Amino acid sequence: MKTYKIATIPGDGIGKEVVPAGQQVLAALASASDKFQFEFENFDWGGDYFREHGVMMPDDGLNALRDKDAILFGSAGDPHIPDHITLWGLRLKICQGFDQYANVRPTRILPGIDGPLKRCGPDDLNWVIVRENSEGEYAGVGGRVHQGHPIEAATDVSMMTRAGVERIMRFAFKLARSRPRKQLTVITKSNAQRHAMVMWDEIALQVSKEFPDVKWDKELVDASTARMVNNPASLDTIVATNLHADILSDLAAALAGSLGIAPTGNIDPERRYPSMFEPIHGSAFDIMGKGLANPVGTFWSVVMLLEHLGEFDAAKLVMAAIEKVTADKSLHTRDLGGKATTADVTKAVCGQVLAAS
Ligand code: ATP
Ligand code: MG
Repeated sequence: MKTYKIATIPGDGIGKEVVPAGQQVLAALASASDKFQFEFENFDWGGDYFREHGVMMPDDGLNALRDKDAILFGSAGDPHIPDHITLWGLRLKICQGFDQYANVRPTRILPGIDGPLKRCGPDDLNWVIVRENSEGEYAGVGGRVHQGHPIEAATDVSMMTRAGVERIMRFAFKLARSRPRKQLTVITKSNAQRHAMVMWDEIALQVSKEFPDVKWDKELVDASTARMVNNPASLDTIVATNLHADILSDLAAALAGSLGIAPTGNIDPERRYPSMFEPIHGSAFDIMGKGLANPVGTFWSVVMLLEHLGEFDAAKLVMAAIEKVTADKSLHTRDLGGKATTADVTKAVCGQVLAAS
């Protein structure tokens, strides 16, 4: 029997509701498995920890995570703490500390869910967005000068390294090749950003030669938003910079029906460190503590976590359980127009997992 060590970090807001729900699904799966079990360790990092200790996580916190097989994360955000502190002090500290340079965001319209695209059937929208997760616009390079003076100025430098772009491009081409359509769209803005984005395009062309079996095209980021809405079936795998993919994937989640169902993995493809899985939504303090949070984004993240562990049968089983539950409109949470609670959906998915195991 294999034992996987899983760190859970609920973080803030509805993270504290959806991560325990995700853990319940993993526990249900393990209770019926004679192949593996999970050893969970929970970390109470986030806004409350900050109020007590002045930091979002301990300075040596990464060491406590280092030997884990994977991390299940909730969200980092607190209405009383500036966003750049919550984000950089926790989530990005882990992403950067563990060089989780590929952020993978699958998007599909799940059974029973009506997205806003009325002309779009379930097979017309099946994307994976690959977000560069270590540099670019979020490299943290920049600064402020002359604060409070009329000549005050500030910069955020989008820094791209050849090595950083090459590795994400290679990752995206590989992922595109593993999917049935073998198709990649490289998002760019090289008409207006004349340095880093031009290098991005050059590297895309260069890496594409290693993948002659992958069809690929380039699209400007602004045009790509219209294409996502008007012709979703023309897209499959998408690779974009840190900022561009951040924005595009919220659009993608909304087109698939709700921010609450979208999952993501922050992956270290070289497997030197643990990878981290989380719903793409934030802490959503407006609905916190009311049982309104849709846990499906976390459950789908659990599916990605299982795939990362190599437990593909278990991943398929959980995905099928999720789809059975979304197909039943009486089990939709408020964001999907329903009345079900976080607990109702969690119980139903755990029930499906146990029934199928
Ligand atoms: P943060 O600052 O941490 O990013 P936020 O307040 O910006 O958090 P998000 O979590 O990004 O909020 O979500 C925006 C809105 O979408 C929320 O106000 C919430 O109503 C809704 N929402 C997000 N996630 C969910 C979910 N899992 N279930 C239901 N509604 C959700
Ligand atoms: Mg937000």
